[in-house]
Amino acid sequence: MSRKTWAAVDDYIVDALFEADPALDAVLATNHDQGLPAIDVSPAQGKLLSLLARMQGARTVLEIGTLGGYSTIWLARGLPADGKIVTLELDPHHARVARSNFERTGVSEPVELRVGPALESLAALSTEDAGPFDLIFIDADKPNNPHYLSWAMRLSRPGTVIVCDNVIRDGAVLDDDGHDANVEGARAAFSFIGSDKRLDGTAIQTVGAKGYDGFVIAIVD
Ligand code: SAM
Repeated sequence: MSRKTWAAVDDYIVDALFEADPALDAVLATNHDQGLPAIDVSPAQGKLLSLLARMQGARTVLEIGTLGGYSTIWLARGLPADGKIVTLELDPHHARVARSNFERTGVSEPVELRVGPALESLAALSTEDAGPFDLIFIDADKPNNPHYLSWAMRLSRPGTVIVCDNVIRDGAVLDDDGHDANVEGARAAFSFIGSDKRLDGTAIQTVGAKGYDGFVIAIVD
């Protein structure tokens, strides 16, 4: 089974289950035109985030790693009218593109975008007594995964759902030689969730337009 087939099946999923969405398509085109890397979630994964928000009855979402806001928009669409999402991004250019995408898709109101190193933004959120968040999506620099999970615990409540993306990495998650900081970050996410008694989690391997990867998902007890 090839990546070409995985991508074709992703297209099939979108054609079969999604309504046409020119505004969301324009977001990906804008990201490309603005030179952003195509490392956003796939449409099928974005819809899953949106459905998770709805299943969770989430009113508040924290996202770490905005890029051009593609996943943020999917998450925002899963929120009720009075829902809020705080999304954290390091790169000012990514943040500018994301803001224009939020306007284009009509989600500027529920989205608060904070620019800067996420660890600083998370500390600020904690100082401001923000949260607890109902759903937390971690998708930034992978070596910081354990720190993000640690902050996620502080900004959560029993019942909060935490999703951490890109933890399978073409199966490289099995490599324990410490040579790849992103793989180390993925493994650290597993260690964190596996060893924290307050978290109950699993991971799902995925294939699709974005290749072979996966996400870990956990609930705070
Ligand atoms: N969640 C986005 C989506 O699916 O559309 C993709 C996020 S992309 C994988 C990771 C983003 O995290 C990049 O835009 C990158 O600039 C940002 N990032 C990297 N290091 C960061 C840090 N220390 N603090 C905040 N954001 C960071």
